[in-house]
Amino acid sequence: MVTNNLHGWTGKCLTVDLSKKVFKKTSLEREILLQYMGGRGLGVRLLWELVDPKTDPYTPENLLVLATGPLTATQIPTTGRISIIGKSPLTNGVFYSSCGGFFGVSLKQAGFDVLVIRGKSERPVYLYVDNDFVEIRDVSHLWGKTTKDTLKILEKDLGKDFEVVCIGPAGENLVRYACIACGPNNFAGRGGLGAVMGSKNLKAIAVRGTYKPKIAKEKSLNNLLEKCRIRIRWNPILDKALSYYGTSALVNLINEHRILPTKNFQQGWFEHAEKISGETLKETIFVEKRSCYNCPIACKRKTKVNDVMGEGPEFETIGSLGSMLLIDDIKTVAEINYLCNEFGLDTISTGGTIACAMELSEKGLLEEKINWGDVEKVKELVIKTVYKKGLGKLLAEGSRFLAKKYGCEEVSMQVKGLELPMYDPRGVLGQALAYATSNRGGCHLNAYMIGVEILGYPYLMDRFSPVNKPSIVVYMQNLAAAIDSMVLCKFLGFEFDEETFANFLSYVTGENFSQESVISIGERIWNLERLFNFKAGLNGKTDNLPKRFQIPLQKMLEEYYLVRKWTVDGFPTPDKLKSLGLPVK
Ligand code: SF4
Repeated sequence: MVTNNLHGWTGKCLTVDLSKKVFKKTSLEREILLQYMGGRGLGVRLLWELVDPKTDPYTPENLLVLATGPLTATQIPTTGRISIIGKSPLTNGVFYSSCGGFFGVSLKQAGFDVLVIRGKSERPVYLYVDNDFVEIRDVSHLWGKTTKDTLKILEKDLGKDFEVVCIGPAGENLVRYACIACGPNNFAGRGGLGAVMGSKNLKAIAVRGTYKPKIAKEKSLNNLLEKCRIRIRWNPILDKALSYYGTSALVNLINEHRILPTKNFQQGWFEHAEKISGETLKETIFVEKRSCYNCPIACKRKTKVNDVMGEGPEFETIGSLGSMLLIDDIKTVAEINYLCNEFGLDTISTGGTIACAMELSEKGLLEEKINWGDVEKVKELVIKTVYKKGLGKLLAEGSRFLAKKYGCEEVSMQVKGLELPMYDPRGVLGQALAYATSNRGGCHLNAYMIGVEILGYPYLMDRFSPVNKPSIVVYMQNLAAAIDSMVLCKFLGFEFDEETFANFLSYVTGENFSQESVISIGERIWNLERLFNFKAGLNGKTDNLPKRFQIPLQKMLEEYYLVRKWTVDGFPTPDKLKSLGLPVK
């Protein structure tokens, strides 16, 4: 039961130790909530406090943290999301994933800001949370099942009012890029947190709750929201592109700019892009729009191929499983996407790793012949990866491992072990810097420079010029960390800035948030992640890009470190750490 004076937050943490089969409910310090907000920030803070950064991600000492934010389960759009945090088996560094859907609402309504999973169960289990009733339940009958079947069976057993996150066989088998399904339509895709869940023998978490978070200034919030809804409706990116086509609206645009990764980034242009575009998706396999909790944008897509219904593909998946592999049929891309969803694989890393294998094969370095565009072979490799059979055993380790194994590291298109998303950095230099410096590895979501370099939001910059890019990247990274910690959808950033976000926070919590404090919280989180990564063995040298791109990064990197007030080696200076209230040692 929640009995405190907090608004927005519940102030409660549920910690479950699967080794000892015990759980405890504790209070969260108000000061920590103000410094880290929730979601990613709170999760990273807990990771820092409770996990030795050198810990093997698959040992019981690693944590899996599921965190809501102060805005979760309010009437603010997109506040059903959940942040999942842990140490990644793919990058060996800190990892955070923001996942859409409804799970965040249920966890908050059960009375918890955060759920911390530690230890390892002897047998496969799932966690049952019904308000403050918590139970660890046997799940032998679900082990080995796909995410789709697991969700169906749990829904049948528990009823529709539980929200469930679960893993598929890929997570159980410790594929390093296994994802976590958050209900049937959303996935915490990147970084292998599904494998961390699998390493704990935890198949699923089912949560239901009835608590309603308190809002400090409801009237002010409602007034603001009325204006926000109008602004969303008139925003061309949110209401026209994303709502009408979903993220696949980007395919043709990105291809026209010659930055659609094709043939494992050998090219930035795919001659058959039209066949896998958002327009083609809409005409062929589209069934209906879907949205996360309280989201008027509704960028998700329900699709159908040969009478099978599924989710997606989204833009990143279309690139990873389409142009990257020279597959030019949207139905096929969707089918492979469904496979990944059901078995619990991240689509970007799956595509990136298979593309790496195709290039190794093209170079004659692989015993097995894998031709570009060979659809049946790709499907076979997906399954082999899930069960670590034959070549799948190597693919399950990710492209960095695979390429190194065959002595050809340059064909692994990743940063810090995380396969790159679908924007070729040669044509967007700010995005290149953002990839190189991202705390979670090759990721576009930590600073979406495509906004200023391609979409012209909020203004257009010369995409081939490095001028001013480092300071914009720093600002965007800090803002993204803050948004992930309020636990909002980053797409809101196409219309709202930190002023609106600060108002959301102030009205919901009753605390004083300003534009500056929001950015400063983001900066604190970014620096703490950096500290964790350095202690885990990552460093300035891992702020790099695959050699293939031949992007002169050094000058931008030096300026970036300067803006961040870090040393020339990329480590936060004592003054910077002190100013953010972070440990200097
Ligand atoms: S914009 Fe899309 S991903 Fe974001 S909350 Fe809405 S439906 Fe979910």
